[in-house]
Order: sequence, then C-alpha cells, then structure tokens
Amino acid sequence: MEITYWNKNIETMDRPAIEALQLQRLRELVDQSLKMDFYKNRLLRVGITSSEDIQSLDDLRRLPFNVKDDLRQNFPTGLLAVDMRDVVRVHSSSGTTGIPTVIYFSRQDMDNWTDLLARSIVATGCCQDDVFQNMMTYGLFTGGLGLHYGAERVGMTVIPVGGGNTQRQVQIMKDFKTTVLHVTPSYLLHIHSKLESFETRPEDLYIQRVFLGAEPYSENTRLKLEDLYGIDAYNSYGLSEMNGPGVAFECVYKQGMHVWEDAYILEIIDPETGEILPDGEQGEVVLTNLVRSAMPLFRYRTRDLAYVNSEPCRCGRTHRRLSRIQGRTDDMLIINGVNVFPSQIEEVIMAIPEVGTNYLIHLTKIGSLDKLAVKVEIYSKLFTGDMSALDGLKAKIKEKLRASITINPVIELHEPGALPHSEGKAKRVLDEREQL
Ligand code: AMP
Ligand code: ZN
Repeated sequence: MEITYWNKNIETMDRPAIEALQLQRLRELVDQSLKMDFYKNRLLRVGITSSEDIQSLDDLRRLPFNVKDDLRQNFPTGLLAVDMRDVVRVHSSSGTTGIPTVIYFSRQDMDNWTDLLARSIVATGCCQDDVFQNMMTYGLFTGGLGLHYGAERVGMTVIPVGGGNTQRQVQIMKDFKTTVLHVTPSYLLHIHSKLESFETRPEDLYIQRVFLGAEPYSENTRLKLEDLYGIDAYNSYGLSEMNGPGVAFECVYKQGMHVWEDAYILEIIDPETGEILPDGEQGEVVLTNLVRSAMPLFRYRTRDLAYVNSEPCRCGRTHRRLSRIQGRTDDMLIINGVNVFPSQIEEVIMAIPEVGTNYLIHLTKIGSLDKLAVKVEIYSKLFTGDMSALDGLKAKIKEKLRASITINPVIELHEPGALPHSEGKAKRVLDEREQL
C-alpha cells in the first residue's frame, strides 16, 4: 500500500523527539496559563508557580484536571487568553442542554488546526485529485468548517453542502462525481435506506473514502457501511474543546486513530479515581492542547472511553493510536442493575445481516422493573407476510443481544424509515424511565 504524508518529519518523529517537543510545549502552556486568573489559582494551589516546576512529562500529572463545567462557569470569555481583536474564529460545542462551551481561535490557532486536518486527510490516502463533499453541519459545530479548511489546504475540490436534504446530497454526489464524504455514520446509514427511492444504486456513485465521526458507532457499523457502499471508511475523532476534528484520525490501515501527539498530550485515566492507566487499558480520554494560544486548555476530561495502542503502525507514523470510542462515562445505561453501553447493543445488531440501517433503544419502566425495547428497521423485502420468519428473526436478535448484555430485550421490527432518524449526531436512546 502506498503511504503518503502531509508532514513526514513530524508524523514519523521518533518517540524521544515527540516527547521533547511535548515537554517544551507543555512548559510554554504552563507559563501561558499562569497569566490567566482561573488557571493561576488552580496551579498555585498545587504548588506550580512557573514552568520551572515542569521538569519532565511526568510532571503533567501534578496539573489539575479541567472539565466541561469549568468551561461553562467561565462563559463567555473567562478562559480567553488573548484580546478579542486577536480572535479570528469562535466555535461552540453542540451540546443541547445548559450553557454552551465556547472555543476561541487566533489566526495562528486556525493555521495549526487546519494543518492537523490536512495531515489527517492525507493519512487516509486522499489527495488533490479528490472531490470532497462535506456533509457535516456548518456553523458553530466544528465538524463543518474544520474539515472544510483542511480539505482546501490539501487542495481537494471542496463541496460545502452541510447536513440534510438527502436527495440533493445524492444528486450532488452524482453531478460532481464526489469521491470523499465527511458524514456521521448514522446519516450515511440513513442515506442508504433512501437510495432506492432516488433510483440510485451505490454503484452509480463514485465514493471511495468516507470520514466518519462526531458520534459513537461500532466496528460492525463501519463494516456494514463499507459493504453497503463499497468504500473505505475512516474513523475521525475530535471535540470542540480540543479544536474539533483532527485530534485523532485513522491511516490507511484503519487499526485505530493516530493521535497527533505533537499537538496534544493524551492520557487515559480511571474515571473513578483519576489514576493514570497504562497503554492498552480502557479508561477516560484526557487531552491537553499544546498549541492553542487564544484558549489554552490542559488535562481536559472528555468523558470518552477508549484505550491506547502504542504498537508501531505499518504506515510508519509514530504517533500512538487511540481505539474506537467505546462509549462515554455519561452514556452508560443501568438497566435493572446491569451496566450497558449503547455501543454494545449496536455492535450486536449491526452484525445481523437482516437488520437495516436504523435502530432505537427504548427504555421504560413497568412497576419497579426497567424494560428494554430494541427497535430495529429491517429491509422491506423481509416483510413477506410470513409471520413465522419474522418471529424467527426477532428471536435471533433477542438471543444474540441477551448473550452479549445479559438482559432480555423486547425486539420490535420496523419497516425502513419508520424510526426517527437524524441528519447530524444521532439520538439512539430514548429513556423514558424517569417520566413514568
Ligand atoms: P463536539 O464537541 O460537539 O464536537 O462533540 C465531541 C464529542 O463527540 C466527543 O467528545 C465524542 O463523545 C463524540 N465523538 C466525536 N468523534 C467521535 C468518534 N469518531 N467516535 C465516537 N465519538 C465521537
Ligand atoms: Zn498508521
């Protein structure tokens, strides 16, 4: 396989060089943070008064963690480190509840971020010859503009279509012979269920690669999408607090996402105790942004659960790889006392060939007991009127789920298009237990 790089020197730097660069940047970050009231108070409390206190990367663990609430409490400008006139871009997190979290970028920050995205895009094998259809929402959400600028920097032909309007999306894919998509996995699944009604087959499209991100999804969903469309799908991870996409991206080998460690320090911690876990152990992803001047942020607890793979990658990149996000510390469901992540349910149902492209996890309460219903769309050709075949399928799904999550779910089969779908981040869980 041919390997291309955007910045080979940085991408293949040896570990000691990466760590030396991280240490230098961490010390600059500490000095920069000490100039800001909020961080200064926190750093002084743990006895850090200057970058002199940071002698090695291990000293990072002396710094306190930051969480989303810290950003909220400092809304809107409490964590801004520069004059507003030096800010060239504002983004905000897509959270739907409470005060939003705001992220500021200076010109230099935009340039750095764009470069990380260019690097990520080239790592998947894309190049200037590609036509890139960006189906992520443009606006305050970082997914739209972030990848947009990165793709332009690579020289791809960028179509800034944004999210929604499925028929138009498909028409544009045909008209401009789009070769690369950036889209949420749930929306790409949904589009597939619509293709027939637009008299389009996957073979009529020119798509070769797809960047999937912004929401959790299982490996089986990736495989299913690759199979349905005949494409290669690459996992893309980021969060607005760390700029947005471009924190970690898969290379052509698709075995975990290279975290750009010249720009971020990655730690995995035990979410209960805060203790740092060794590579390979699953825990909460904690990130330090090493190169953002307008809004420094260190040891940010993402609530995302994953593990690190530090084995060398065949692509030659030395930056360690992050596993698929296995769930979030705040999306775990407790169903009759059993802990279940929505991703476990998805992993099982997406491996069942009869299951279509959409599903919903529905929780209710009957008396004091939780009831789990898993509603899945199946392909319309399966609704033949043969009830026993459908009952057999229900039993099969139920049994596979029970074996994985140890809970007996109720399975409902639905026609394609019957369940609610989203054109941005999907909402897969409907938890009505409190209200009842
Ligand atoms: P936002 O700040 O609104 O961009 O949301 C960031 C969050 O989206 C992350 O903290 C993750 O929970 C989720 N996310 C982004 N990319 C992925 C991905 N590739 N896989 C799983 N979850 C993701
Ligand atoms: Zn690689």
